[in-house]
Amino acid sequence: MTFNNRIALVTGAGRGIGKAIAETLAKNGVTVICVSKNPASCGPVADAITAAGGKAEAVPVDVADGAAVAKAAEALLAKYGKIDILVNNAGITRDGLLARMSEADWDAVIQTNLTSCFHWSKAIGWPMCRARYGRIVNIASVVGLIGNAGQANYAAAKGGMIAFTKAIAREFAKRGVTANCVAPGFIKTDMTAVLSEEVQKIAVAQVPMQRMGEPADIANITAYLASEEAGYITGQVFTVDGGMAM
Ligand code: NAP
Repeated sequence: MTFNNRIALVTGAGRGIGKAIAETLAKNGVTVICVSKNPASCGPVADAITAAGGKAEAVPVDVADGAAVAKAAEALLAKYGKIDILVNNAGITRDGLLARMSEADWDAVIQTNLTSCFHWSKAIGWPMCRARYGRIVNIASVVGLIGNAGQANYAAAKGGMIAFTKAIAREFAKRGVTANCVAPGFIKTDMTAVLSEEVQKIAVAQVPMQRMGEPADIANITAYLASEEAGYITGQVFTVDGGMAM
C-alpha cells in the first residue's frame, strides 16, 4: 500500500477498532491525528505510536458537537495544511427494544454515529475536494444492512452512514475524493465486551466462521481503502463479518 506522506484523522482512535486503524496507518508511514472523546483515551494511543517511531497527535473532541468539530478541523487544517484521509469510526450503542427506547438514547446514537460523519465530512471533505485528493472511510455495521432487534437507533444511524457515504461519493467523485464504508460484524472490543456471555454466544453462533473478528480485520481493509491503490473504488460497502450477513 502506498501513502505518500499522507495525513489521516481517525475518530474513536482511543480504543478498539479506531485504535487498530490509527496504529495500522501509522505503521505505513501516515501521520495520524487520533480523535476520541476522552483525552485519557486518545493520548496514550498517540504517545505509543510516537514512541514506536511513528507520527501521531491526540486531539480530544466530542464528535457529536458540530461547533467543536468545525473548530478542531479548522485548527488542524491550518497546522498541517491538509488532511488526506478521514476515518469516521467513533460510535456508541444505547440498545433497547423500541417500546422502551428513550428519545435521548435515539438522539445520542444518531448524533455520535451519523451526524458526526456529516460534521467531519463537511469540514474536511471540501478541503480534500479543493486539493483534488482524499479518502473517506466510514465505519458502519452489518446492522445498517440487515437490522437487529433492540438496535433501532444504531441500525438507523449505520444505515444512514451507508446512504450518506454513497451520496458524498457521488458528490466528490470528480474531484479525486473517494468515500466508502466498512461494515464490521461482531468484533472483539469494549463495545461487545459489555454484552452478556449468553448474548455473545448467540451472536457467534450466527457467524459461519464461528468466532468474533479482531480490530485488525477492520483496520487492514480500512488502510487499503485509504491507500493510493484504492483510488478507483468509491461508494462501496465492505462487509467484514466472518460471513454473518451474506
Ligand atoms: P469502542 O471500543 O467502544 O470505542 C469507541 C471509540 O469511539 C472510543 O475511542 C470513544 O472515545 C469514541 N467515541 C465514542 N463517542 C465519542 C464522541 N462523542 N466523541 C468522540 N469520540 C467518541 O468501539 P469499537 O467497537 O471499537 O467500535 C468502533 C466503531 O465500529 C463504531 O462506530 C462501532 O459502531 C463500529 N462497529 C463495531 C462493531 C463491534 O462489534 N465492535 C461492529 C460493527 C460496527 P473514548 O475512548 O474517549 O471514550
